[in-house]
Amino acid sequence: MTETRQRLMIDPEVIGGTAQAPRLIGSVCARCATVTFPRQRSCPRCTSEDVHPRELATRGELWSWTIQCFPPKAPPYLPGGVEEFEPYGVGYIELPGEVRVEARLTESDPERLRIGMPMELTLVPVPGAPDKLTFAFEPVPEAER
Ligand SMILES: [Zn+2]
Repeated sequence: MTETRQRLMIDPEVIGGTAQAPRLIGSVCARCATVTFPRQRSCPRCTSEDVHPRELATRGELWSWTIQCFPPKAPPYLPGGVEEFEPYGVGYIELPGEVRVEARLTESDPERLRIGMPMELTLVPVPGAPDKLTFAFEPVPEAER
């Protein structure tokens, strides 16, 4: 736990809360209530600039997903090169009544992912920069659904 606290979240404009209870920071339009992630200076729906930061829900449903099986070509995925690459899941999480968030998934086994399954926000080390944390979503354990 102490080790986690000492790590740095990758961007305080994107991830709020604490290392133990992180929150994604989106924005909400005061005029039409459209929610965005990441934060935007103006509303993509009505163009109002009366938008405010909003902590998003930490649980949602897996809307769609895939497994990234090869290193992204650009920018370079890891300082150590492709030898360090491990396949990972990536998907969209539908936060109820808010927005769909594109995120890395902690699960990379296609047999353990299905559309509509409950997912929860978590933090993971940044590939190639293990002293930094970024956000990801993990399946909610069966017992907590
Ligand atoms: Zn708006």
